Amino acid sequence: MSGNKTFTMIKPDAVADGHTGAIIKMIEEAGFKVVAMKKTQLTSEQAGQFYAVHKERPFYADLCRYMSSGAIVPMILEKSNAVADFRTLIGATDPAKADEGTVRKLYAKSIEANAIHGSDSDENAAIEGSFFFAGTEQY
Ligand code: GDP
Repeated sequence: MSGNKTFTMIKPDAVADGHTGAIIKMIEEAGFKVVAMKKTQLTSEQAGQFYAVHKERPFYADLCRYMSSGAIVPMILEKSNAVADFRTLIGATDPAKADEGTVRKLYAKSIEANAIHGSDSDENAAIEGSFFFAGTEQY
C-alpha cells in the first residue's frame, strides 16, 4: 500500500525568482496538505549528503553547487497516494519533457534548475523528510 506523505523542496532558482507562493498554491490546490515547512539554505556539503545517490553521476558537483546557491523551501506534504500524485504534479525532470500545467513546465529553467524536488518512493520520502525535519512537529 502506498503511503500518504511525501517530501518536496522548492529549489533555489524558483525561490530566487519569487515563485514560492505560486508553487505552494498549486500544491494546495492539488489536494496536498503542508504538514511541515521552512525556508533554509544548504551548504555544499549538505547538498552532497542529500544527493549522495547521485555521487557517481557527471552532474553531481554542479548539482551540489546549484542546490547550495540560494534559499530553498523544504516541506513535508500529506495526501493519499502522495509520492506518485506529487510526481505527476511536478512533471518530468527535464522541463522540455514535462507535461503542460506541471510545476516544472511552468517554472523550471533547465534540467538542473528545475524548480522543485519530489521524492521518488515512500522510503526516500521518509529519509528526505527526516533530513530537514527530524524531531519537528507536523500539523
Ligand atoms: P528527479 O527525481 O526528477 O528530481 O530527477 P533525478 O533524481 O534523476 O535527479 C536529481 C536532480 O539532479 C534533478 O532534479 C536535477 O536538478 C538534477 N539533474 C538530473 N539530471 C541532470 C542532468 O542530466 N544534468 C544536470 N546538470 N542536472 C541533472
